[in-house]
Amino acid sequence: MIETNGWASYDANSPLRAHGFQRREPGERDVLIEITHCGICHSDLHTVRGDWGPQSYPIVPGHEIVGRVARVGAKVDKLVVGDLAGVGCFVDSCRTCEQCKRGEEQFCEAGSSFTYASLERDGVTRTQGGYSTRIVVDQDYALKIAAGLPLDRVAPLLCAGITTYSPLRKHHVGKGTRVGVLGLGGLGHMAVKLAAAMGADVTLLSTTRAKKLDAERLGAHDFAVHTDDADWKRVRGRFDVVIDTVSAAHDLGRFVDLLAVDGTLVLVGAPDDLGKLGAFSLIGRRRSVAGSLIGGIRETQEMLDFCAANGVLADVETIAAQQVDAAYARMLKSDVRYRFVIDCGSLR
Ligand code: NAP
Ligand code: ZN
Ligand code: ZN
Repeated sequence: MIETNGWASYDANSPLRAHGFQRREPGERDVLIEITHCGICHSDLHTVRGDWGPQSYPIVPGHEIVGRVARVGAKVDKLVVGDLAGVGCFVDSCRTCEQCKRGEEQFCEAGSSFTYASLERDGVTRTQGGYSTRIVVDQDYALKIAAGLPLDRVAPLLCAGITTYSPLRKHHVGKGTRVGVLGLGGLGHMAVKLAAAMGADVTLLSTTRAKKLDAERLGAHDFAVHTDDADWKRVRGRFDVVIDTVSAAHDLGRFVDLLAVDGTLVLVGAPDDLGKLGAFSLIGRRRSVAGSLIGGIRETQEMLDFCAANGVLADVETIAAQQVDAAYARMLKSDVRYRFVIDCGSLR
């Protein structure tokens, strides 16, 4: 077995702490990745704090994983020792259902094996994530990372990047599309960068006036504080696509009003309460509300290649694993600039 040092949550309320555990020996199609960095997603916080229901602890969170391949199984042909590789939000799926065959493994009908707080295909082994020193994964669920990029700034692409790239593509965002990005945190800042790189006209909608300059630096063409009446009147009805990344309970019915005729609000944020949606706010202007969950392996690779070709990287604060609780506290105050990333060397 492969000895691994992790940083784990032991219950919904206590600080995270050290957790030694074992990964499986790499099988014929597995790669062993020495993790250099792992991003901190708000989903990590939702999971360990029990926002999405009771959990089995300890949980080693983390699904924005990058590192270097240290060992490969006999039948591995996608990666070689020394390559840079990434792991995102899932590490396996059934491979035979319609969704897996379409390359949408995140919707696997048998249930995807998510990277942590989930089960491997054996139905018994609990998955543990990237706040750790190494991971063993089937090559089909590992991503290739181009050489020469700053790895701490690549890590967040594995969740925040694909989660925003996928709906922007699905809803045909391109030159001149009027895109509103709701919330400037980890997902929001990637949505701004990616939509701008696709040629869209991007407006950042925030609760935090102090983020205006950052929004413009990230590529937004306009900025509005959606809790401010004057700003709200200026932008309502403007957007073809709104990407809603808000992590806290909010009133979807109000935000649908940001859409133009035929506009679509895509929910990627995952709070437990979205208020009430009035029928006429949709039918009166033929608007849609959609959801989106990360993206499949093929599209994640496409996104990584798009980012490498267009110079898109996350803006990060790199921290030691021992600082995770402080990072979570700042996330809850909307004080993320704009992704915390763990230097996993701090666990060695
Ligand atoms: P984050 O970095 O903490 O950013 C969330 C942002 O939401 C904040 O920075 C803030 O932006 C805004 N916000 C927070 N509380 C708010 C409130 N009460 N009212 C209005 N706006 C508020 O979180 P993240 O990592 O980007 O994740 C965002 C959400 O997406 C989480 O719920 C996460 O679980 C979910 N998620 C979903 C997927 C998926 O596949 N669908 C994947 C990853 C994450 P401002 O300061 O600009 O207002
Ligand atoms: Zn995530
Ligand atoms: Zn499947």
